[in-house]
Amino acid sequence: MRDLAAGVRSFQQEVFPAKAELFAGLAARHAPDTLFISCSDARVVPELITQREPGELFVVRTAGNLVPAHMPYADGTAASIEYAVAVLGVTDIVVCGHSSCGAMTALAEGHDLSGAPAVAGWLRHADAAMTGVPGSATGAARVAALVRENVLAQLTRLTTHPAVAGALSRGALTLHGWVYDIATGAVENLTGAVENFTPAARPAA
Ligand code: ZN
Repeated sequence: MRDLAAGVRSFQQEVFPAKAELFAGLAARHAPDTLFISCSDARVVPELITQREPGELFVVRTAGNLVPAHMPYADGTAASIEYAVAVLGVTDIVVCGHSSCGAMTALAEGHDLSGAPAVAGWLRHADAAMTGVPGSATGAARVAALVRENVLAQLTRLTTHPAVAGALSRGALTLHGWVYDIATGAVENLTGAVENFTPAARPAA
């Protein structure tokens, strides 16, 4: 906690004054253009990966970057998605999976989650992704395959949300599926050629 307090002091004394004009504008204007859905994993930092400033990304983070399909009752994820699309009018949604994902590893390797029943229940939202993983894939390759399948499955589930379906039908929204590699900084685009990422440099040996 001491580290957090020191961080706040540093923000207030050094970072905030340098961007005071930006923050003054943001106080009266919330107009992000992208909804970024990532894992809650502490190693995945959407604003850092995309080099976005405050106010530019509307972020939803869930364990395993899972998106529950639309249901008749409201939940926090659905409300955030609806708000981003229907109220803020974002033009893009990125679902970003990542390497070494604990949630995907637990599923791919069939971990015993009896001591974490909420996690076990939540991970059922990746059931469809599991069906896309080749039975022959094992170890790290199996986890990596599930990470990719999961991003694609969650993009499909996004389209069950009425606000998303409506914006897609009007051509007002584009969906993107990415996978971020923690060790190299590489970002793989699973959903087309819109983003042309240059291959990330390998860390110095
Ligand atoms: Zn994760």
